[in-house]
Amino acid sequence: MKKVAISACLLGQKCRYDASDNRNEALLGLLEGTELIPFCPEDHAFGTPRPTMDLVETKEGHKAISNESGEDLSASVTQYAQHFFDTHTKIDLFIGKDRSPSCGVCSARVYDEGKNLLSSREAGLMAKEAKKQNIHCIDAEEFIGL
Ligand code: SF4
Repeated sequence: MKKVAISACLLGQKCRYDASDNRNEALLGLLEGTELIPFCPEDHAFGTPRPTMDLVETKEGHKAISNESGEDLSASVTQYAQHFFDTHTKIDLFIGKDRSPSCGVCSARVYDEGKNLLSSREAGLMAKEAKKQNIHCIDAEEFIGL
């Protein structure tokens, strides 16, 4: 059976920053017959609800910066991702929630330190770790064909 790692909010888990979800029935229909392995780095690291964060370009690369405290939260997300992929091997497909600074595959926004938008086609920090594992990665909207 195909193993699919997927953003938990897409399955209906209320783990978004505001304790809502992104459940998508069309997506779930397309995934029938697969083994779904949900993940949510931000809920694990920061709890729910929580302040939002944005990806910011720095000299050390893209960092996840809290919109509330200005703190660099990247390490917690990256450590969760590394542990996830160490624990869950042989994943066939990674489906990330579009535009998330953690889970977006080719749709995360990156800003400069003055909050000017630099790109909206980047990988979030968890998706970046999935790509390093050579897992096929896709944004949920692209998978559905939106
Ligand atoms: S997009 Fe990713 S980090 Fe955000 S709520 Fe969904 S699973 Fe969690």
